[in-house]
Amino acid sequence: MPAKGWIEVSDQYCKGCELCISACPQGVIELDMSRLTPKGYHPAHLFKDGCTGCAICALVCPDAAITVYREVAKPVPAAA
Ligand code: SF4
Ligand code: SF4
Repeated sequence: MPAKGWIEVSDQYCKGCELCISACPQGVIELDMSRLTPKGYHPAHLFKDGCTGCAICALVCPDAAITVYREVAKPVPAAA
């Protein structure tokens, strides 16, 4: 099963350049056309499931606007 991840995009830094959209291997980022940032850009956001937490989007973002989270599987307790 692929790792599960998600991203948060900073309204303060995102300028809607779409580099993260092109770079995401899962195709799960788009610009949110329903919102504008305080600077007047449509910000990037996750629009469907499938993010693996690979962090490629964060690496290519020129404005360091993306924080990536990745789910960590809980260790299975050893049998007593
Ligand atoms: S962490 Fe990877 S899969 Fe998730 S949105 Fe960014 S590039 Fe796409
Ligand atoms: S690469 Fe960064 S600045 Fe460009 S749209 Fe994505 S989050 Fe916004």
